[in-house]
Amino acid sequence: MENEERNENVVGEKKIEKKSLFKNFYPDYTFERVENITYDLLSKLGIKLVLMDMDNTLIDSKGEYTKELKKWIKDIKGKGIKLYIVSNSFSEKTVKRIAKELGLQYFYKASKPSLKGFKKVCDNFPDIKKEEILMIGDQLFTDVWGGNRFNIRTILVKRVNKKEIILTRIKRPFERMILNHYYKKEENSEKCRV
Ligand SMILES: [Mg+2]
Repeated sequence: MENEERNENVVGEKKIEKKSLFKNFYPDYTFERVENITYDLLSKLGIKLVLMDMDNTLIDSKGEYTKELKKWIKDIKGKGIKLYIVSNSFSEKTVKRIAKELGLQYFYKASKPSLKGFKKVCDNFPDIKKEEILMIGDQLFTDVWGGNRFNIRTILVKRVNKKEIILTRIKRPFERMILNHYYKKEENSEKCRV
């Protein structure tokens, strides 16, 4: 609780507080799975819109997702929080199918960490402020960095499975190095390790 409260303050002044070489890649929270993110946390942070990465965050390499995830989405949506897929995938067919099955809206070819997708999606919700928006994803260099650049809150989750495209595999050791620094910081030391 204490950690969460401290982190909440950090979120408000993110650009100033995260004094580290890798601060741009630091998520506000880390969770093992999307389903572990509680409504209570989202509510406490005042989140109204959740942007979600798709590949390896919602679905595995076979395009499958768990029934727990489907239930989580239904619960969170039912409590009034808007959920939106923001994917770098080039396959509209896949993104559209997943979005339809999970009852989500989507934006594909988002080119995260580019701000293009973030802006496009958030323009649909002019009444929602940046501090009420959260990005959830499994990659530091696309999802978390993009979210931090857009100045919204970010949650890193553990990738759903290990099978990944080569470009992503190349980035993982660098992510690990940054995460090691991240968890060494006192305020992050108690967080779920992903
Ligand atoms: Mg991903």
